[in-house]
Amino acid sequence: MARLLVFGSCSGTEPEEGRNHVSFALEIGERIYWFDAGEGCSRTAHLMGVDLLKIRSVFITHTHMDHVGGLGNLLWNIRKLCWVRSAQPADSTIRVFIPVLATWNGLMEVLKNTEGNFKTDFAFDVQKPKDGVIFEDENLKVTALHNHHLPDADGEHVSFSYRMDFEGNALVFSGDVGGPDDLTPLIGNGVDWLLMETGHHKVKDVCDYAVAHNAKNLLFIHHGREILDNKPTVWEALAACPLQPMLAWDKMVLDIPAKKLM
Ligand SMILES: [Zn+2]
Repeated sequence: MARLLVFGSCSGTEPEEGRNHVSFALEIGERIYWFDAGEGCSRTAHLMGVDLLKIRSVFITHTHMDHVGGLGNLLWNIRKLCWVRSAQPADSTIRVFIPVLATWNGLMEVLKNTEGNFKTDFAFDVQKPKDGVIFEDENLKVTALHNHHLPDADGEHVSFSYRMDFEGNALVFSGDVGGPDDLTPLIGNGVDWLLMETGHHKVKDVCDYAVAHNAKNLLFIHHGREILDNKPTVWEALAACPLQPMLAWDKMVLDIPAKKLM
């Protein structure tokens, strides 16, 4: 069984009571796989009882602040827990996928000027995602596909969506997209879970898309104003959708039963 742990459910709004910018993780076996890193994500995770030293990899969809605002603090908290517990992360190298390396280098510059020059006994393996399978271990396979939320920069894709395959389940996380159609190649014949943003799209349009593309479960995350402002159109769309979609909240935990062992 895998667990989906939500640390932040909000789009890039001004501060919202009870909702931080988007971040979640999959806990599979003894490892944690982290997706986007909005404000305060590692604080929320730690207070939920998530062991940050079990992180194997971090996947960033794009480098807007609502997706990376908590990344520096996540890395800092991992090092802090090592020091507090006299321990090390379960993996000596943590893999990081981030579309803009300048953002990573800037974060490292900030961290270098914090305690102990941010020296660690563990390492980071940092790469830009590219279309195709970017990660595979005994628990999880991650496939990346660029989308049209952002135009290419210097001829490179800088905004991605991710598909995760684990224990016979398939889950697609939109990140921010130009439109739901950006996700069609990742979804293929269907997915068990679609995690979809509404910072840029209407709830009803996403519901219709999810049904048409054979998503079995629809979880809204990265909520835009339509959901945050509790507009009646949200509840009309949800009531009319046969998938019985859910709206993610901060600190939500979802069990995803295994369909088969990898
Ligand atoms: Zn966003």
